[in-house]
Order: sequence, then structure tokens, then C-alpha cells
Amino acid sequence: MMQSCSFCGNENIKNSLVEYTYKHDGKYMIFHNVPALQCEYCGEKYFEAKVLKQIEKEFVAVQNGKKVSKKISVAVEDFDKLVA
Ligand SMILES: [Zn+2]
Repeated sequence: MMQSCSFCGNENIKNSLVEYTYKHDGKYMIFHNVPALQCEYCGEKYFEAKVLKQIEKEFVAVQNGKKVSKKISVAVEDFDKLVA
């Protein structure tokens, strides 16, 4: 169990369910309701190694054709091109 946030030093760390975006080779997968410890002050999230391993495993399975419950399309823009 963590004593304090390694980012800001705050000692109030709570269990929560958060969103996690996994990114690999230009591919993305978003996981909802991922168990994490979250700093109540700065919002930094900490995940158990086994949770991250499971996410990686699921990502690989989906790349290999496993069905997901939902797919979304995401808008992408290059910030450099925003200046008129
Ligand atoms: Zn913090």
C-alpha cells in the first residue's frame, strides 16, 4: 500500500475506478472502470502491475481479432496546422 503520492506528496490516496488509454504502435484501446489508486489532490493514478499486464494481454487479444464491446472513432489534428 502506498504511503503518499510520489508526484505531489499528498497522503490521501483513494481506491477508484478510472479510464485508462493503452497505446502501442499507433494503436489505442480505452479501458473503462480500471481499478487504480488515485491521489485526491493531483489526480495522479497508480495501477497494480497485474492490472497493467491484463490490459496488455487484452490489447493483444483484440489485435488478434477478439471482439470488443464498443468501438469509437477519434478525431486527430496536427496542432501546427491550426494557425490560420
Ligand atoms: Zn498527488
